Amino acid sequence: MTATKGYAAHDAQTALSDFSFERREPGPHDVAIEILYCGVCHSDIHQVRNEWGNSIFPMVPGHEIVGRVTAVGAHVKKFKAGDLAGVGCLVDSCRTCSQCQAGEEQYCETGSVGTYNSRDYAGNVTYGGYSTNIVVDENFTLRIPENLKLEAVAPLLCAGITTYSPIMHWKVSKGQKVAIVGLGGLGHMGVKFAVALGAEVTVISTSDNKAADAKKLGATNFVNSRRPEDMEKYRNHFDFILNTVSAPHSYDSLLPLLKTNGSMVLVGAPPEPSQVVGFNLILQRRTLAGSLIGGIKETQEMLDFCSKHNIVSEVEVIPVQQINEAYERMLKGDVKYRFVIDIASLK
Ligand code: NAP
Ligand code: ZN
Ligand code: ZN
Repeated sequence: MTATKGYAAHDAQTALSDFSFERREPGPHDVAIEILYCGVCHSDIHQVRNEWGNSIFPMVPGHEIVGRVTAVGAHVKKFKAGDLAGVGCLVDSCRTCSQCQAGEEQYCETGSVGTYNSRDYAGNVTYGGYSTNIVVDENFTLRIPENLKLEAVAPLLCAGITTYSPIMHWKVSKGQKVAIVGLGGLGHMGVKFAVALGAEVTVISTSDNKAADAKKLGATNFVNSRRPEDMEKYRNHFDFILNTVSAPHSYDSLLPLLKTNGSMVLVGAPPEPSQVVGFNLILQRRTLAGSLIGGIKETQEMLDFCSKHNIVSEVEVIPVQQINEAYERMLKGDVKYRFVIDIASLK
């Protein structure tokens, strides 16, 4: 067992603080990783505060992990000590169901194992990347491109794949009109991917102070969703809307902006149920859909795409001791555009 220092939520109400625990010894198929950076996802806040009702405490959050391999098991083929490595939202799945066979472990019919706030198949609680090291099966470990800034790569492991996967699945392509709703950690990656694929991108935001950044990221248009008269100009306009909003809001204000046969895909996951006026779907044969992270194969493909197109996240690096303040700032939309923890602050 390896002694590990982490930062944990001990219950849904109090601030995160120091927490020591042990990682398993690497088995024959395992990779041991010294964590260097870990991104901060809004899903960390939802789970730390038990907003989805499934929290296990103490909880060490973090599923945007990059670091260096320190040791590998005897049967490991893809990694050796000294390599860069990444871990995203998944650390295991059944590997036999049709979804796992198709490389879409996130939809594993048995239930995949999350990097934190989950239980592995032996029943042990998983602990995430707000910690000094992690041990993961090589099949769930990602190769990290050497040409990108490491701290800016970390958010690709969740924010990157969660936006890349639906953009690919719904075949966003050159010349299409795409809207990204919410310019946060996920949203800014969605803009970068859609722009890289040649789409004409509009950011739909509640924050006027992000308009200049939206343009810098490559968006053509910026609309404030709190001004209905501006939203009205985009009625029947978009082929595809990627909705990354973390808080309850009206889907009915967005659906009419889709043209005939257009799709709005939810990746943002506010816990509250929403209502939808059926006619907003019926009238133009519109689709409302959802998408969960992405499988390991596609995550590697996304990292390689980022390496080729020089795409990384815009990050603000913080010591772990600032995490509670960082959560408060995220809730106010005050981060450009992803906090990343420098794990050296834990050592
Ligand atoms: P984030 O960085 O906090 O960004 C969320 C953005 O939503 C904010 O920047 C803000 O953008 C917008 N927003 C917030 N409150 C709003 C409101 N009341 N009305 C309208 N817009 C609002 O969060 P994130 O890390 O990108 O995560 C976004 C959501 O995706 C979270 O719910 C997270 O749990 C979920 N998620 C889902 C998956 C998946 O697999 N589906 C994976 C990862 C994360 P503006 O300032 O531009 O309005
Ligand atoms: Zn996430
Ligand atoms: Zn499976």
